[in-house]
Amino acid sequence: MLIVHEREIAALMTRDAAFSAVEKVFAAMADAKAYNFPVVREAIGHEDALYGFKGGFDRAGLTLGLKAGGYWPHNLEKRGEINHQSTVFLFDPDTGKAKAMVGGNLLTALRTAAASSVSIRHLARDDAKVLGMIGAGHQATFQLRAALEQRAFEKVIGWNLHPEMLPNLEKVAQEAGVPFEAVELPGMTEADVIITITSAFSPSLMAEHVSPGTHIACMGTDTKGKQEVEAALLSRATVFTDEVAQSVSIGEAQHAVAEGALKAEDIAQLGAVINGSHPGRQSAEEITLFDGTGVGLQDLAVAAAVVDLAVEKGVATEVDF
Ligand code: NAD
Repeated sequence: MLIVHEREIAALMTRDAAFSAVEKVFAAMADAKAYNFPVVREAIGHEDALYGFKGGFDRAGLTLGLKAGGYWPHNLEKRGEINHQSTVFLFDPDTGKAKAMVGGNLLTALRTAAASSVSIRHLARDDAKVLGMIGAGHQATFQLRAALEQRAFEKVIGWNLHPEMLPNLEKVAQEAGVPFEAVELPGMTEADVIITITSAFSPSLMAEHVSPGTHIACMGTDTKGKQEVEAALLSRATVFTDEVAQSVSIGEAQHAVAEGALKAEDIAQLGAVINGSHPGRQSAEEITLFDGTGVGLQDLAVAAAVVDLAVEKGVATEVDF
């Protein structure tokens, strides 16, 4: 069995490798060649932790396994460890034997950023110039860095409930040589692409804050009850997702579906656009919205890619198991 330690991931994994791993597995999902197993998520009654498993099997990529982990809210203050902790386990689909154990913390951020980037590549207008960011926490910096590579953006605008966090976005934009401007929410009408990546339980982005032709990637809502955008926006938009079952239960679409503003059968898989079975954006005025809920197959895809890179560079640790 191979082990790729968390500390090795930053030097091994590239945004390009994460992008193509996620793009491929989304296409495999839409082709019914890859499927996610039911998600387990439990409050374990210890350290206030939420722990769970996200797994699946990709018959096209022959990737089988799971990500185990969750959220330990006291890690940072008590132990100086980060609160989100996860590990990916890969198994040989021919034999069921354990194949690899891979640090999953940085990979989670990279695969989540890759998902919105894949949506921008396939759904945003080619002439998109202004990128809007809602959220400025840990994930937001990864989202912004990856999104800036997808179009010739000339400006980043950002809003965050806690404005003192906006310099996190400004720093990334500056590193990419793109000017950054803090705006109020109505200022988002200037954006051609908007990424929402907050932990909010009530909407910030309203339908009136979005101009025709915009692509929106809603990435923060991954749990029942969370919400970042007004449900009415989903009825104005063509809605895509990674997985419809998750979108309507724990994703941004849960609210629009519950209110009757959107039907599950009207939500398309982003993978269908990638493999050409859905036309994707059909006009310059259409609003497209990607509900990125985060599926186990994304974790397995990036973990498998990083194992290959680790073997190539001779940094995977082999253990007799
Ligand atoms: P973080 O704690 O670092 O940042 C949270 C962000 O949300 C900050 O910008 C904060 O100002 C903002 N925020 C907090 N409360 C808010 C409110 N009531 N209204 C508006 N904004 C508010 O968190 P993070 O690690 O950046 O994660 C952000 C979200 O992304 C979380 O909900 C997390 O669960 C989710 N997430 C989703 C995926 C996926 O695959 N879709 C993957 C990882 C994380």
